[in-house]
This record gives sequence, C-alpha cells and structure tokens, in this order.
Amino acid sequence: MIDQKPTRAAIYARISADLEQEGKGVARQLKDCKALAAERGWTVVGEYADNDISAYSGKIRPEYERLQDSMRAGDVDVVVAWATDRLFRRSRQLEDWIDLCEETGIGIHSVTAGTVDLSTPTGRAVARAMTAFASLEVDMLTLRVQRKHEELAESGAWPGARVYGYAKDSAVIPEEAEIIREMADRVLAGEGFNEIARDLNRRGVKTTRGAQWRAATIVGILRAPRLAGLRVHQGRIASKGTWEPILSEELSAVLRARLAPGRSQGTRGGRRKHLLVGILKCGRCGTGMVRGLGGKTKTPNYRCPKNQGAAACGRMTVVADKIETWVSEQAFHTVHLAAGKPAPDEGEWLQRTKELAARREQLGADYAEGLIDRETMLAGTKAIRAQEAQLQPPTARKPKLQVSEDRLRAAWPHMTTSEQRSVLETLIERITVNPVLITTGAKKFDPRRFEIEWKV
Ligand SMILES: [Zn+2]
Repeated sequence: MIDQKPTRAAIYARISADLEQEGKGVARQLKDCKALAAERGWTVVGEYADNDISAYSGKIRPEYERLQDSMRAGDVDVVVAWATDRLFRRSRQLEDWIDLCEETGIGIHSVTAGTVDLSTPTGRAVARAMTAFASLEVDMLTLRVQRKHEELAESGAWPGARVYGYAKDSAVIPEEAEIIREMADRVLAGEGFNEIARDLNRRGVKTTRGAQWRAATIVGILRAPRLAGLRVHQGRIASKGTWEPILSEELSAVLRARLAPGRSQGTRGGRRKHLLVGILKCGRCGTGMVRGLGGKTKTPNYRCPKNQGAAACGRMTVVADKIETWVSEQAFHTVHLAAGKPAPDEGEWLQRTKELAARREQLGADYAEGLIDRETMLAGTKAIRAQEAQLQPPTARKPKLQVSEDRLRAAWPHMTTSEQRSVLETLIERITVNPVLITTGAKKFDPRRFEIEWKV
C-alpha cells in the first residue's frame, strides 16, 4: 500500500495452553509483534489480547470482537498477530476474517508466517489449508474444556498408579507400549475397535486388570494425552510430563481428534477411499483417473478407465504409492513456500527452472519422433543440465514458517485419506498425468510427467 500517512497497526495476541507451554505467553507474543511493526515502520495503535482457554468454555472473546470493530471503523490499516492461528483456528472463524479483510482491505501479518493476504485467492487458499490442518490439532493445543468431558481429562492426568503401558513409577512397559502402538496403527488404518479387541483377546493379550479387551477400553487408552508424555491438569494439557512418551505428539493429537466424544471415527467430510481420485486427469484424453491394480503383482495404480464411454482412452497408468508420496511432498513444500515470504527473485527462478525442464522434455519428444538423432538429443540434454546446475536458487528460499510444514509432514501418515484429501484439495486444482517419456522408460518414477495446477 502506498500511503503518506503512517500505517496504523493493531496487535493481536492470544493466550493458549500450547503457547504458554512453549514459553510464548502473551508478553512474548506482544514483544515479537511490536518488533515486527517497528521493523516495518508501522505505528502501533492498539493491543488486543484474548484468553483462548476461556473461549472454549463458551465465553465470548471481547478483545477479538473489539479488534474487528475497530477494523470495520477504519481505525486500523494492518493487523499483526504472532501466528495466524492466533486469529483463526477454526475454519469458520477464518471465513469471517476473509469476509472482513475483503470488506475493509486490511492486511494481516504474522510473526511466524509472514504476510497472509486474505484479499487474494492465493493468500486465502494458503490460509484455508493451514486452518484445515490446524483444526486437526485443536485437541492437542487449546483443548475443549467442557465440563461433561471432565472424566476424559482426568483419565489423561498422570494417575500415579499403574496404567496400561506404564508401571506405577511411570516407567514404560515395553510389551504394553508395543500393543498401544499396534492399536494406534490399526485404529488409524480404519479398523473397528471391536475387531481389534477380539483379536487381542484371541491372542491372549490382557488388560492391566487381567481382563478381556472391549472397544471402550481401547478408546480410553488411546485418547489419553499421557501417551504423548503430556501432563493434564484440571482438564487441560498443562505441560510436558517427565515420563517417556509412547506415541508422538502428532499421532496422539490425531487420535484424540479422531476419538473425541461425539465424533464418529474417521468419517469427517465426504469419504473418498483413494487420495488422488478426482485430482488426477489423463493427459491424453482428460478423463479423471481411477484406482486399479496393475500387472501380475497387483500393484495399486491410478489409470485412465477403459470402456467408460468413448472419451476415456484407457492408455495411462501411474503407480499409486509413488505419485501419492510425490504429490504429498509437493504439497508440504507448497504450504512452506506459499506461507513464507517469497524472495523477490523466486518467481524468476521458478520460471527459468520450468523453461529448462520443458526444453529437456521437448528434446526427448523430438528424438522420439525422429526429428533429431540420438547424439543431438544427448548433447542438448547435457547442455541443459549444465544450465540447470548453474541456476542459483533464490537466497531467501528458507521462509520462516517451518512449523506448519513440519507438523503437516509429521501428522500426515496418521491422517485419514479424507483428511489428507481436504488438505490437498485446498492446494491443488488438478494434476495432469502425461505419457511416460521414451528417454526415461516405463519403470522409473519421473516427476516430469505430472503437471500440478495449484490453487495457490
Ligand atoms: Zn485417457
């Protein structure tokens, strides 16, 4: 924004269990936000701080509302928050902010994630992806403190007694820890609790009391925050415990979100069995690719469906796990890049990289069609490779936002397919799958075959 008047910044901080835990209480948040404002030469005209913990008990958040009022009144030019999830942890809140920013033209800046410009489609898509993911973490981070779930909270507090997985003195019991990890994996893989209980009983595995397993026992154990080494006090995760965790914090958070009372297991959002169905398009005919099994080994793949009307060519396949891993990686990286502040020369660098890749591809295609001979093709490829090696990646390609990418990456294997899809769908419009290049051969996974159309 080009303006003669000094830019007026409002600072928003939020007190929540997770940040207190990390030593980033309100004072630290305010200090970081003020430093950011000073660095940009903005004048701080207001400071707003809410207690998030009380927000979940149903109390309104007067500061949050007051900030929005002053934005509407035109008293503020930018909002500075410590992290964007201070502002919108829930998707519904984000939509409110999008409306408000569109209406007022006010930008939001955060200390950890850089500028989130909700007035552009890119900024909105990034914010939506981050929020979709953050909502999975809600249980781990700020917690629901409903009274009726007090008993759940209590079951998470270190009991000072023998519990499944831990001896009375909080030492891990390896065999039981192993069973806990197995149960977690099976639940995340979508297996029913009764089925798991039956199997454990059949194998002669006993509960702490030497009893038979029931569905409720499994649920009770798996959603206890203590498994991630987290101490619970008065229904909230208060701090890290001193005992050894059995599950990672991410995995535990996903389990708690999944097994929260009143939420049926893993059925959030429409259910799609496969990660990329509806996203992959055949590069020959444009048909949406379906999931199938290929070859004698029955390897899962995505393929252009045959016999599905005249339009589908049926001549395109790609091995499922390779493309799924690759696309997920691209998505993590994109959340990372898009959320951080791009370096000024990054666009140019990307453009140049793409050009060179396209030229290499063209050489291969020309050779395949007999337009050039093998020597020309090889020499050309070599020359282009040399140019690629010369390309200096932009200096500021390490944006500040490590947290979201790392957390997304860590939680990814534990998310249901539909949860993963909801993240991908906020980032990716479609992916076109092109034929295997003759220079690469059919066996090798070649990322150049795929054109991702980003929403961001
Ligand atoms: Zn096709």
